[in-house]
Amino acid sequence: MAQAEIGLIGLGVMGSNLALNIAEKGFKVAVYNRTRDVTHKFFNNAGKLAENIIPCDNLDELVAAIRPPRPIIILIKAGEPVDNEIRLLREKLSKNDIIIDSGNANFRDTMRRFKELEDSGLTYIGMGISGGEEGARHGPAIMVGGKEESYKRIEKILDAVAAKYKKEPCSAWLGENGAGHFVKTIHNGIEYADMQMISEVYGLMRDGLGMKAAEIAAVFKKWNTGRLNSYLIEITAEVLSVIDAKAKKPIVDVILDRAGQKGTGKWAVIEAQTMGVSASTIEAAVDARVLSSMKVDRTAAEKAYKITRKKISPKSRATFLRHLEAALYAGKIAAYAQGFAVMEQASNEFKWNLPLGTIAKIWRAGCIIRSQFLGLITQAFVKSGGKGNLLMAPAFMKMMKESHGSLRAVVAQAALVGAPAPALSNALSYFDTYRQGRGTANLIQAQRDFFGAHGFERIGEEGAFHGPWAGTE
Ligand code: NDP
Repeated sequence: MAQAEIGLIGLGVMGSNLALNIAEKGFKVAVYNRTRDVTHKFFNNAGKLAENIIPCDNLDELVAAIRPPRPIIILIKAGEPVDNEIRLLREKLSKNDIIIDSGNANFRDTMRRFKELEDSGLTYIGMGISGGEEGARHGPAIMVGGKEESYKRIEKILDAVAAKYKKEPCSAWLGENGAGHFVKTIHNGIEYADMQMISEVYGLMRDGLGMKAAEIAAVFKKWNTGRLNSYLIEITAEVLSVIDAKAKKPIVDVILDRAGQKGTGKWAVIEAQTMGVSASTIEAAVDARVLSSMKVDRTAAEKAYKITRKKISPKSRATFLRHLEAALYAGKIAAYAQGFAVMEQASNEFKWNLPLGTIAKIWRAGCIIRSQFLGLITQAFVKSGGKGNLLMAPAFMKMMKESHGSLRAVVAQAALVGAPAPALSNALSYFDTYRQGRGTANLIQAQRDFFGAHGFERIGEEGAFHGPWAGTE
């Protein structure tokens, strides 16, 4: 059999599907998985695509099966397993071979690995992929970080396997070293915010308006035909329509309200905080998952407080539903503005020169947050030269002016009936704080100077000043 053009390590959910995707696009791929049975099972189930797959029982076989210079994708559990795999691989690979980590790596690990491989003669690529199982099989969004010349060597394969938006591949080189994994992290942070805001709106319909899952599904289905059209709204409508065969009721009504997380949302928030960029909507979404996991405490507190949750009784349900749709849209604008602001700052700090418009472009298909909304972001960045907060882009200003009233009405209503809406509330607070020329930090500065002599600036004057506080000189 002819040698493979690419190798892939890790035949879990993502790796097995990506390998089939690569084989389907006509590239020969050599595959290896730690557990040998998995490799053989995968190969035996590959059907016609097996023609393009070379199963390997160990790393020596894998390396021998690929034509040099060898690109090898690692798609295994992130963290230490990746370090181990790199350590084993580097002994077996030759100059110019390319190691591509496609898992959800922390970009700081990716930067460290770049440094560790710097003098090895090997090339390293940190590549984020999004789209879950389906995306890996039929076309994910691909975010590449590393040397541009290394990317050029695998561009053809990546373009072939990536999702297409109107025939354009949703794959791009975004910058050096950790850029690809950083962008993937922020993608996931935005995904957390999107999902949380959708679930808050669902909660207001379910508990506030007393709507049944099927009725809520119909609302999301309708919204999906408008400006909120996106994968997440589409699957929300679908999920809400599914009946559990065992309980014979909507499956969402039998799923425990305890959300899992693997860490990318948290990393997005940590990096935003470290750089001093506001990402409060994403942070609220991560925090909501943390609180959701405290099911026992929440149940006990509900019993202890005995505060009846009120229903929302709008004069017109149709009008309130319109407010919900617009609130979700406004919240989305705020969350994306924050996510892109974090990337802009990271781009400056790490000297990546991240192409923000291109990032929005490659997220239009394949990935979990794919939506038509991202096309508007690309257009805004094209006009602004790829810089600046989205809230200041004329098209987004217009949208926000039209929809912030609804966000306000929904957050106020949620507060009045005692329904938590942390991400929507934070989106509104971000918007209101961002557009407030004179805020209240003057008082904070006075307090800081009072107890710690930190000094303050005076309006219209240069220099640092201290106040005439009682008890101070
Ligand atoms: P799975 O749990 O389905 O598969 C895990 C894979 O990692 C298996 O091939 C497993 O091998 C291998 N593995 C685990 N531990 C080790 C180890 N110590 N040494 C060598 N191999 C090991 O994971 P996914 O396919 O879902 O995820 C793979 C990567 O892709 C992760 O980084 C994940 O965060 C990321 N990702 C996942 C997405 C998803 O939707 N699932 C989306 C985007 C990225 P074995 O069979 O021997 O156990």
